[in-house]
Amino acid sequence: SGSSLPESAPALVVPRPGGGDVLEVRDEPVSQPGPGQALVRVAAAGVNFIDTYQREGVYPIETPFVLGNEGAGEVVAVGEDVSSFVVGDRVAWAQGLGSARAYAVVDAPNLVQVPPAVDLEVAAAAMLQGLTAHYLSTSTYAVRPGSVALVHAAAGGVGQLLTQMITKRGGRVIATAGSAEKLEVARLRGADDLLNYREVDDLAAAVRELTEGVGVDVVYDGVGKDTFEASLASLRPRGLMVLYGAASGQVPDFDLQRLNRLGSLFVTRPSLGAYIATPEELRARTTELFGWIESGEVQITIGGRYPLTDARTAYADLEGRRTQGKLILIP
Ligand code: NDP
Repeated sequence: SGSSLPESAPALVVPRPGGGDVLEVRDEPVSQPGPGQALVRVAAAGVNFIDTYQREGVYPIETPFVLGNEGAGEVVAVGEDVSSFVVGDRVAWAQGLGSARAYAVVDAPNLVQVPPAVDLEVAAAAMLQGLTAHYLSTSTYAVRPGSVALVHAAAGGVGQLLTQMITKRGGRVIATAGSAEKLEVARLRGADDLLNYREVDDLAAAVRELTEGVGVDVVYDGVGKDTFEASLASLRPRGLMVLYGAASGQVPDFDLQRLNRLGSLFVTRPSLGAYIATPEELRARTTELFGWIESGEVQITIGGRYPLTDARTAYADLEGRRTQGKLILIP
C-alpha cells in the first residue's frame, strides 16, 4: 500500500531552458501511479547526454520539468491494469522523462526486470547506453567478423560499450578519444587502433593509413559537429555513417549530393526509441545485454557516482569532457 510513502521527495528540476546552472533539486510531490504505471523507489538514475539537449531546449520540453531518462529501483506501488510487475520487483528503464528523483512514476511497458545477480546501480548505468550500443552494433550496422569500425569518444559511456560489443562480434575498432588516458581505457575495452583526435591533424588520413587506404565500413559518431566531416572522409565506398549524437554540437545542414561524390555513402541518424519501440524488442535487447553483463563479456564502467544534490557537478563533468564511462545520480 502507498500509506508508508512520503508525500514529497527530492527531484532534479529544470525550471527554465539553460546551462547546468539552472538545475535545482526540489522537494516534489510523490504521485500515485496511474493505470498502466508503476511507482519506483529510485536506487540510481543515469546521466546521459540527451539530458543536456533537453535542459538546453535543443529538444524542446515545456518547463518546469524533472530531468533524467533512465534509472533502476524497486517497485513500491502499481496502478490499475498492471499485472506484469508487483511491489518489491527490481526494475530498470531507459525511457521515462523525470527519472532523476527519489520516487519516479514509470509506464509499465518501459520497465524490465533486473536479474538478481545484477546490482541496481549497474542496471541504471547499463540501460540507455547499453541498449544504444546494442542496437548500433547489431541492427543499425550488423557488425560481422572482419568489419572495421571507427568509434569516436570510445572511452565515453556509449563508446566503451560499443567498443566491447563490436570486438565481441569479431569486428575491429579504430578508437578516438581526447587524451592518452582515455585511449588506454578504449584499448582495455578491446580497441585495436587508437587516435587522439585532439592531436592528429588529419583524422581521415590517419584512418586511411590504418586501413591500407581503403577506409572503414562504418563510423559510429556521437560527437557530431567537430568530427562529422572527418568521419565521412574515413569511410570506404558504400560505407555507413552512423551519426547518433552531437556531444560537440549539431551537424549543420547537409547537401545530399555530397554522398555521391564521396563514394555512394549511406548516412543514418538513429535514435534508441525506434529500436525498442515494442515491449518485445525492448525485452529481447535487454535480456541479451544483462546476459553479457552477468557473464562478464561486457563490463560496465561507473565513472562517477554523485548524490542527486551534486547533479550540477555531474553534468559539468560530462559536458567538460572530464569523464570516462557512465555517471549515475543517487537520490
Ligand atoms: P559520453 O560519456 O560519451 O561523453 C561525451 C564524450 O564526447 C566526452 O567524454 C568527450 O570524450 C566527447 N566529446 C567530444 N567533443 C566534445 C565536446 N565538445 N563536448 C563534450 N564532449 C565531447 O556521453 P554518452 O555516452 O552519454 O553519449 C555519447 C553520445 O551518444 C552523445 O552524443 C549522446 O547524445 C549519444 N547518444 C545517442 C543515443 C541514440 O540513440 N541516438 C542514445 C544515447 C546516447 P573525449 O574527451 O574523448 O573527446
